[in-house]
Amino acid sequence: MDDFLIFDRVTKSFGEARAVNEVSLSISQGEVFSLLGPSGCGKTTLLRMAAGFESPDSGRILLKGKDITVLPPEKRPVNTVFQNYALFPHLSVFENIAFGLRVAKRNKAEVTREVEAMLSLTQLTDHAQKRPSQLSGGQKQRVAIARALVNKPEVLLLDEPLAALDLKLRQHMLAELRRLHEEVGITFIYVTHDQGEAMSLSNRIAVMNQGRIIQLGGPVELYEKPQNRFVASFIGDANLLTGNVIEVISDELSKVQVAGLGELLAVSHEPLSVGQAVELSIRPERISMGETAEASTNRVEALVDDMTYLGSSLRCTLIAGAHRLSADLPPQFAASLSKGDKVHLMFSASHTLALPSSLS
Ligand code: ATP
Repeated sequence: MDDFLIFDRVTKSFGEARAVNEVSLSISQGEVFSLLGPSGCGKTTLLRMAAGFESPDSGRILLKGKDITVLPPEKRPVNTVFQNYALFPHLSVFENIAFGLRVAKRNKAEVTREVEAMLSLTQLTDHAQKRPSQLSGGQKQRVAIARALVNKPEVLLLDEPLAALDLKLRQHMLAELRRLHEEVGITFIYVTHDQGEAMSLSNRIAVMNQGRIIQLGGPVELYEKPQNRFVASFIGDANLLTGNVIEVISDELSKVQVAGLGELLAVSHEPLSVGQAVELSIRPERISMGETAEASTNRVEALVDDMTYLGSSLRCTLIAGAHRLSADLPPQFAASLSKGDKVHLMFSASHTLALPSSLS
């Protein structure tokens, strides 16, 4: 960690509402860092404080060791790409990108050279003379990114930049953003409520809820080792079952009683105690069907309630005791399963994660 950009106990309220609550965070140079969370969790407010559009009520923001907490936006080596692009409708693509350089009174030859480099980087050379209204959504988004990058910021802030685009274009633009990041190598801070975007783009992700960071980690860590119910259900899909520890087998392995389902073996990242309330998290793709004699595999009887063929998998909804479970099975099960079938589900103890209820 090189402490390139630091948020130190940053707090911001609007009236009674605490939008950002004592957030501390250190972002490395060149990192793609995402702020991920549901609507209203405070991620845009945090981003706006990095940009200088809002100032914290308390706490500090440091960039390369320098306190920038109250520095005005135009004095920060930081540029923002907004969700609605905020392009000038009456200016050409070229002039939109040139705008910041012209304000900075850069000479004509420099402006031309740098705008042309940006047009090439964002693959917009053929569209330089068009107005924004003549561009597709993805092209407009690329102009917005080029316009921010031309100022050579040290940090690029991206506020839900792909939210207005359809799914195919979003996937394409995500690949574009990864390529751009590789080429320019500067720090990206990316705000999104879409876990797929955050997972596919980021080195690290801060999952936020109600103004706080709930968990911070790489995509694999957040998916495989969520620390609580909120993260388990926000990052990917999870079957969540409430239960009580009835036996501690080792520091990592416990037996948990789940009402209406029976006893299940589960792993945990911290030692549990007998009687403790836990949430069990089981990913749908970790559930399979059939019989096994493996002692460390949980077995549950269930009835097929619903099936959705997704091409690469079959999403099944199953009734097990008082619980509804989702399982992602190989697609060929579509031919042999029917609603109402009685099946045996299996999921290993190592994929049954016990999360202390107090943290959920
Ligand atoms: P979204 O994904 O919906 O944009 P967000 O996680 O980015 O949400 P913020 O925009 O940071 O959330 O808002 C956090 C909280 O602060 C919300 O409750 C919001 O209503 C409130 N808030 C944000 N900006 C203002 C403002 N200028 N005036 C009053 N309240 C605000």
